[in-house]
This record gives sequence, C-alpha cells and structure tokens, in this order.
Amino acid sequence: GNMLLACTVQGGVFSDLRTKCAQQLSRLDADVFPIGGVVPLMENQRYDVLVNCILAAKKGLDPSKPVHLFGAGHPIVFPVAVALGCDLLDSAAYAKYAADGRLIFPWGTEKLEELEELPCSCPICSGFTAKELKNLEEKERVRNIAIHNLYVSFSEMKRIRNAIRNVTLWELVEQKASCNPALFDGLRVLEGKESKEWLERFEPLSKPGALMYTGTHTVHRPLVYRYQKRLLERYKVHSSKYVVILPETTKPYSRSYLERFRKIDGDIIVSSPFGPVPLLLDEIYPIAQSVFPRELDEESRRLSEESLDQFLKKYNLKIGEVKRRDMRDIDRERIEAVIDMQFGKGMSEVLLDGEILIKKSKKTGKIRNVFCDGKHLLSLRAHDGLFTLKIEGAKIIHQNFPLPKLRVIVKEECKPFIIEGKSVFAKFVVDCDPVIRPFDECLIVSEKDELLGVGRTLLNREEMLSFGYGVAVKTREGLKDE
Ligand SMILES: [Zn+2]
Repeated sequence: GNMLLACTVQGGVFSDLRTKCAQQLSRLDADVFPIGGVVPLMENQRYDVLVNCILAAKKGLDPSKPVHLFGAGHPIVFPVAVALGCDLLDSAAYAKYAADGRLIFPWGTEKLEELEELPCSCPICSGFTAKELKNLEEKERVRNIAIHNLYVSFSEMKRIRNAIRNVTLWELVEQKASCNPALFDGLRVLEGKESKEWLERFEPLSKPGALMYTGTHTVHRPLVYRYQKRLLERYKVHSSKYVVILPETTKPYSRSYLERFRKIDGDIIVSSPFGPVPLLLDEIYPIAQSVFPRELDEESRRLSEESLDQFLKKYNLKIGEVKRRDMRDIDRERIEAVIDMQFGKGMSEVLLDGEILIKKSKKTGKIRNVFCDGKHLLSLRAHDGLFTLKIEGAKIIHQNFPLPKLRVIVKEECKPFIIEGKSVFAKFVVDCDPVIRPFDECLIVSEKDELLGVGRTLLNREEMLSFGYGVAVKTREGLKDE
C-alpha cells in the first residue's frame, strides 16, 4: 500500500537547532513532520521547555504539512499542543498510567487507591464503584483503567475539535493551565514578545463568540496583542491631543460616555483590560465582545496601565477636558477610526474623500452602510463591529495604494473565475500582503495588478503560499457583478 514519509524534527532543547532542522526537513517532500525527543520533557512536566520546542519546530516547518507530537498522552497537554499547531498525537500513556494504577481525568491524574469515588461517567466508571475496581484482579483492573483512560482521552479530543470549530481553543488551553502549575509555566513562554508576534500572524481577525477571561494569561492572547499593537500604529488621535480617561462601564462604553464625548474637543479613552480603548473603537472585536470579571487580577491591571502609559506617550497626549461649542460628527469620526484600525493608517482619508452618506439600521440605530459620492464602499458588521469591503471601496483602495496593499495576487488563469465570483484556491495564489490575517477583507488582483474582486481571506500569507489545497479567499463580489 501507500506509505507516508515522516521526517522527525530534532534539536533537543535548543530552539535555533530545532528551527534549522525543521527548515531543512521542510525542503523534503515528506507527508508528516513529527516533533521528536520531547517525551522526557512531558514525563518530567517541563511544559515550558516543551512549548519552546514546539514553537521552534513550527517556526521552521511548512505550515501546510501535518505535525505529529510524539508521546503526548495526557489530555492536559492536548489543547496547548493543538493550539501551537500539532495535528496528530500518539501515546501509550493510557496503558502506562493504568499499569501504575492511575486514572486520567481532564484535570490531571488520580491514583485509584486514593479515590473513594470515581468522578467519571464512562462505561467503566458507571459499571464499577471505586471499591469494586480496586478489588479486581490486577490484570482486569489495569485493563479497565486503561479503557477508562481511553474514554477520557477521546472525549477530550472531541472537546478540542469543538473548541477549534467555535474558535475557543485559547480558553481551553488556559483552563488546563489553571489545573497544572507546570503547564502554567508553559503558557508563560507564550507571553514573550517573540511568541506573541508569531502567534498573532495566524490569529483570525475576529471570532463568532465573545472573548472569555480565564486568568492572568488572557490579556496575553494574540488577539489582545494585535489590538494594542495596531492601536499604537494605526489610531488617529484627536487633533487637540486632549484626552479624558474614564473607567470601564457596561459595554459598549458609548452608552455611558457618548453624551460627554459630544461636548468635548478631544478623545475619551476607557481604561480597560485591553489597555486604552478610544470611545470610537468601543464596538470592535474583541472590545465589546469580551467578558472580564468585575475585579481584574493584579497582573492584568498592571499591564493595562502600562499599555495606557505607552499610548499616551506615543501620541503625546494631554489629559484634560476642553469644552466645544460646535456639533460633533460622531458617526463620521467613528467610521474613520474603525477604517484606520482595520485597514491601516491613513486609509480613512483616502476612502472617505467625497460626499459621505452613512445609513443606519432602523431597528438598532447602528451604522450599517457607508456611501461616498453615491457609491457603496463599506458595510459595518453587527457581530464584530468591523467593516465588510464592497467592490466600490476596493476600487478606491486599488487606485490609491500600490501593491501589495491588502492584495491577494492570483495567477492569470484564474481571472475568469474570480470575476464570476468564484473563490480563490490557495494553489493559485502568487503572493499576498504580509499584513493580511485570516478573515481579513482583501482585494483579489491578477499578476498585472488588475482588480478582479473583493473577498475575505481564510489564511495568512505564509499559509496561502504553502497550501497546495483548499480555499484561501472567499470571494464576495467579482468585478463582473456590476
Ligand atoms: Zn471513567
């Protein structure tokens, strides 16, 4: 039959060697890339070192190829391994633990002899009491514990697959870390700037559900890192440079602060767990779509304050409330702020250069569509407060910004399909703006930079370029549509 070629990434605990090994192996046309030499790390619960090894290997590997993590047998490490890009796991842990009289649970292992009751509903634990299980003959006992261990492992795999579908994998990773201090140390590795920088590239722009706080790690998630970074790079502060800093309230913050905002000549900045949130950005993901406890932990609070200081310094802002007499066009200011955050600095000036008409939902009163000189440029999505780019908006960006700005470049042969509105397959992507992230709006252009359509990406640049299969961009409008 057909055999698969697996090339194992080695390099011990030396990150540079792991990355180098991974890069060189990726040149071979292997089917699977296992990460080797990590079993002792897991046995000794050195999850910090393990996380470094996986990160280093993944950085060098072809992102389109499956990665196997050798010997990851305990469900506690499954989520973090998967979150870092491992696709396959294997282990004899279920049997080894069973032979040692240990039961695997989602939160850790427990010795059978220390259990008065079996906190599990699998067929084994439903069929025996703890006492009965203890009294079985050794061989039978080990066999039954092994079966229980497999039930738990498989149900944890289902939980992970659900979390991937619902885009809640980070929540699951953090929950596991709260059960195991060694894993908590592993998560600390992901709080370094270099790790965040790398993880952010693969992080979708927004998610269907709310961002849920689980502990001190939450504010280190790639999504939060991206928000803070973009705020420093893309936000256009009010020309007066005056800001009023206010505490968090019910979301969205405008409900409480809009009237005050209307009367001042400056910005309102809400001090939030994400750091500073300009009032005009209070509805974008994940600001409005997040759940934090009323009392934030000490570390998250400190980081939020640091982020606020950095913001004030970067933009030379002054704290103070300057009254204004004229009317403030808040809708206009809001769309400008969101456009710049989502598409890049200066984009609002280019897109909104003309007679602007903002249409609102009759039901909710929220901004829905943005027109300029009668052309429909953008629609604001209710669920994440971000824009969907229309073909007329894409045309303006195309005319005003050179390659590769927001472009996905496709092979000439795809032209007829894209203008008909067909999606872009990864194997036809020639190149792409490195700033593009999964679920970003993008312009689809030919190799000669002719605009073909507009759509939403499913992958980032390195994924598009390496994947030989699957959809890279869901085309929303082809140029032929008009
Ligand atoms: Zn059980």
